[in-house]
Amino acid sequence: MTETKTFDVKEIRKQFPILKQKVNGKNLVYFDNGATSQKPQVVIDAVANYYSTINSNVHRGVHHLSQLATDAMEASRDKIQNHINAPKREEIIFTKGTTDGINLIASGLGKGWLKAGGEIIVSALEHHSNIVPWQMLCEYSGTVLRIIPMLENGELDLDQYVSLLNEKTKLVAVNHISNALGTVNPVKKIIDLAHDAGAMVLLDGAQAVPHMKIDVEALDVDFYVFSGHKLFGPTGVGVLYGKEALLEKLPPYQGGGEMIKSVSFEKTTYAGLPHKFEAGTPNIEACIGLGTAVDYVNEIGMDLIGNYEQELLKYGTEQLSQFDKMRFIGTSKNKASVISFLLGDIHPYDAGVILDKLGIAVRTGHHCTQPIMDFYSIPGTVRASFAFYNTKEEIDQMVEGLKKVEMMLS
Ligand code: PLP
Repeated sequence: MTETKTFDVKEIRKQFPILKQKVNGKNLVYFDNGATSQKPQVVIDAVANYYSTINSNVHRGVHHLSQLATDAMEASRDKIQNHINAPKREEIIFTKGTTDGINLIASGLGKGWLKAGGEIIVSALEHHSNIVPWQMLCEYSGTVLRIIPMLENGELDLDQYVSLLNEKTKLVAVNHISNALGTVNPVKKIIDLAHDAGAMVLLDGAQAVPHMKIDVEALDVDFYVFSGHKLFGPTGVGVLYGKEALLEKLPPYQGGGEMIKSVSFEKTTYAGLPHKFEAGTPNIEACIGLGTAVDYVNEIGMDLIGNYEQELLKYGTEQLSQFDKMRFIGTSKNKASVISFLLGDIHPYDAGVILDKLGIAVRTGHHCTQPIMDFYSIPGTVRASFAFYNTKEEIDQMVEGLKKVEMMLS
């Protein structure tokens, strides 16, 4: 008999110690999950246990603790490989996070892969992390940056995308889900079109991994990057998945210990994958904690998480619609549990400060996506981004809070 999983948000909330806190004397309502997510006790324990039982440097010790630490870190690599369905464990590179993963690829491609006359395509929906590294690369390589425009509802203009692709396109780098608007991009289509034009694709999965099951093999994506801290894991760790054949050809990002096969003053040779891209002592406890986070979300079930968050999105959108002066920023058909909005002409920052006094944590500002704000000619938005431990009651609290905001500032 197959076991049917059920989703019990009350039980889930008990596993996140921080959610029991009061902020400004009120129960904490944490709606800033797009920036970073909270950590379940098992992840906190995994990090603490590493230090209290197996703290030791990895990969180079023959002694007992070093072997245990290495085994734990490498077990985490296997969990992540399975979680995103990467064909090989060597294709999973531990990084510092999404930004670091993108910079790793940009740095590698800059060393001879991309030349003057070549083109890189990004989209109007990108986080600054998926814009600036490519601009820097273009500056010193002479490569040209092209931008897929966006539509009023926050979707990408795919017709324009098709017309940007040509034989000069070397790379398409877009996000899977927009952090500012919640738009879920049609990434399979984007990848297939890029491949037809002979270009590689990097997906910024920072906002996708917490909400949905990722299958890099089915996507046939060349590079996929994400951050551990948005996936209920520790900060300071992230993952770069890359197709083995491409990672083999790409030059190392940083030089140092761990990433070499042999070193002499005459000639140094590099280690094989994944170590070629993991110079220096890694963030061992975070790598281990991320493996635990992956186990944790799988235990709940990514499908159940996704379905529940869609319920929150629907409920939140309905409840916020009761404000006459509500303006939703980003209304794509396919959306993750992110609601960006403006309430009349109230400045997002002012709304955020009042909500904070009521214990409600939202993000305000441009969300590291200034081009999106420029597109809408706004200084920023209020963004409520939900995780699976949030509740409809918390959304009600935010609605009550916003009524106060309106009363005080209109
Ligand atoms: N890309 C997207 C879509 C993001 O939302 C973020 C963070 O908010 C990043 C990249 C950068 O992630 P990190 O700061 O963890 O490197």
